[in-house]
Amino acid sequence: METRYETILEEDLDSQRAQAVLKDAGAIIKRGGLVAFPTETVYGLGADALQEEACRKIYEAKGRPSDNPLIVHIGKWEDIYPITRELPEQAKVLADAFWPGPLTMILKKSDLVPMRTTGGLDTVAVRMPSHKVARDFILQSGGYIAAPSANRSGRPSPTLARYVQEDMDGRIEMIIDGGQVGIGLESTIVDLTEGNPVILRPGYITREMLEEVLGNVDVDKTILDGNSKQAPKAPGMKYRHYAPKADLTIVAGEEDKVVATINARTKEAQREGKKVGIISTDHTRKRYVGDSVKNAGSRENEETIARELFRILREFDDENVDVIYSESFDENGIGQAIMNRLLKAAGHHIEYI
Ligand code: AMP
Ligand code: MG
Repeated sequence: METRYETILEEDLDSQRAQAVLKDAGAIIKRGGLVAFPTETVYGLGADALQEEACRKIYEAKGRPSDNPLIVHIGKWEDIYPITRELPEQAKVLADAFWPGPLTMILKKSDLVPMRTTGGLDTVAVRMPSHKVARDFILQSGGYIAAPSANRSGRPSPTLARYVQEDMDGRIEMIIDGGQVGIGLESTIVDLTEGNPVILRPGYITREMLEEVLGNVDVDKTILDGNSKQAPKAPGMKYRHYAPKADLTIVAGEEDKVVATINARTKEAQREGKKVGIISTDHTRKRYVGDSVKNAGSRENEETIARELFRILREFDDENVDVIYSESFDENGIGQAIMNRLLKAAGHHIEYI
């Protein structure tokens, strides 16, 4: 299959050309095809969420395990009613506060949503993205787009369209390039089906932000404890994710010690002929001796780190580094989401010094 590649930036959305492309994209979706598109979190791989066969193609294109359910993306609030069985007051409160935006809610599903979309569960994950291209695309496509991240299963989520192309070229009908995404980590997932709201995946919308509007919010234990034997409630969270080809180790502790330890390990590895990648931050990057030292961003503004993390992991793959050392991040605010992804990428390999 030949993959059509089109660029639509948010500021050009109203142009005739952009609207014509989105109309074509909508037609592809209605025919049961696949279109990758930008959102504010990461690029999504979209299909009609209400067509079982279209959703099957998502699993096939990604190589995704079939028990890992898809998030259904909507473009306007009213569209939530037909796909849910019950809508708790909390859902309305959250939508008022955070939609459109990087928040996914788990709700009881209606019969309209095929089991293939929800991985056999009787609940459905719903999100309304804030990216204007995404919303327009959803509305042109019939209103319900099932979309996981547009990467091959196990690889870091794409934050640039060229990474979507790398993973999906020839497997899907169209890629819409909207430039680099704003947030860079997937949405926060909150389960509203069992009384007290529970965070199943941390993201840009933090626990503190949710508690401000909902009161007490719990966090799925398996997120906090990497060694937990319990299965996470979001089926996808049990899989190894974001894994770079190289072995990644996180080093945590006081800054000077972290720098010294990473440099010592780097020299050791280099003596063995290995190529070493390092994930540093603004004011430590010049202190490292690795072959490829990447600056993830500023600790004062961890949103910069969220935006760069997946790109850096992919660059290390392209550069064929053998080992990666990364600094650790505070688990406050968006830091919890950053550490959740980084720990997964590292297979939970973290050293405290
Ligand atoms: P992705 O779209 O690749 O960002 O992954 C979607 C995430 O949402 C996965 O971790 C899924 O397990 C989770 N998810 C989707 N639907 C449900 C659901 N009904 N219940 C719990 N988790 C869900
Ligand atoms: Mg994903």
